[in-house]
Amino acid sequence: MTKMTSQGYIAREDKFGAHNYHPLPVVLEKGEGPFVWDVEGKRYFDFLSAYSAVNQGHCHPKIVKAMTDQAQKLTLTSRAFYNDVLGEYEEYITKYFGYDKVLPMNTGAEADETALKLARKWGYEKKGVAENQAKIIVCEGNFHGRTITIISMSTDPDAYKGYGPYTPGFEVVPYNDIPALEKSLEDPNVVGFLVEPIQGEAGVYVPEDGYLKKAYDACKKNNVLFIADEVQTGIARTGKLLAVDHENVRPDIVILGKAISGGVFPVSAVLADDDIMLVIKPGEHGSTFGGNPIAAKVAIAALEVVKEEKLAEKAEKLGKIFRDEMRVIDSDMIGLVRGKGLLNAVVVNPKDGKEAWDVCVELANEGLLAKPTHQHIIRFAPPLIITEEQLREGIEIIKKVFKKFE
Ligand code: PLP
Repeated sequence: MTKMTSQGYIAREDKFGAHNYHPLPVVLEKGEGPFVWDVEGKRYFDFLSAYSAVNQGHCHPKIVKAMTDQAQKLTLTSRAFYNDVLGEYEEYITKYFGYDKVLPMNTGAEADETALKLARKWGYEKKGVAENQAKIIVCEGNFHGRTITIISMSTDPDAYKGYGPYTPGFEVVPYNDIPALEKSLEDPNVVGFLVEPIQGEAGVYVPEDGYLKKAYDACKKNNVLFIADEVQTGIARTGKLLAVDHENVRPDIVILGKAISGGVFPVSAVLADDDIMLVIKPGEHGSTFGGNPIAAKVAIAALEVVKEEKLAEKAEKLGKIFRDEMRVIDSDMIGLVRGKGLLNAVVVNPKDGKEAWDVCVELANEGLLAKPTHQHIIRFAPPLIITEEQLREGIEIIKKVFKKFE
């Protein structure tokens, strides 16, 4: 294959690929730890981590080895047969998070769909809701993926507009609003409350301390399942293994994806106890690739890395440094700094026609990759294996770029 310039690669994607993304104009060919390199050989800090999938760093040797070893032995059996590694993974992950059972899927959206199905079925079989009446409460500004049902819950026109008719059975309440939630929970047909502990895609919205615990208690009072979408916040990203751990909440259903594989393979999972998980019977739900042997081995390795390398503790410590350093930057363009652990955002005030996108392009020129969300917010989420020294180097780049816009 002849090597092209970045422009050549971009033009080819543009011509032959659907235009459902708007990437920054960099073309990457290699990754290692917190760094990626483009086709011209330029090195960047990756401060997006593939939307928090690469928490363990790019191409983590232990995770890659788990994948290549298994790939040479057995890749896929489907669930028509047993294999010798799925059970090992199921035992490992359920003990790791403290749940009776796991249901393995591939993408975050699929895991969310699985949780919605579980909640509805639990509602009919255990709570006694009349057929087809189950209701699930979700939050304004939510992001749970891209399927028709998931976008039916969305309040973002970019996500839902043009894709109707929508799946019924959802009610939206404002995020971080306990009275509104309590009121909605009074409806006896409500079976579940689906919530992101921090709203990542919406722009790293961190609810008030105590929100998750109060929401959980309100759910319990009304016999409603508390369902935490930890696809982006889970696996040590916010300074705890799960973001709900900050408030000592144990959700009825936990949804995981992204970093459960360290970003090397699509792996997602739904965790719940038997009284919920066993409402789905053989043949009633599944996925050809879900729980395949490579995914199983990769996820075990990726979860081991989180503990071995103390990634939650690192995220907690480095996140504080990051926010402190962002808050002392003297720039009109920085409106607000927020986040938890190493999931952070800077709200950008437009200046002289320059917006978050322009800041990100300049950051890339200076060797740091980050992506705007919703035009005026930049999310900063480096891999959790980043060292303090590397983080400070990245911070210097960010400071330099904001200075350039003054
Ligand atoms: N849930 C949350 C909270 C997410 O942030 C995302 C992706 O960004 C998803 C679900 C969807 O995951 P996937 O893109 O793997 O389907």
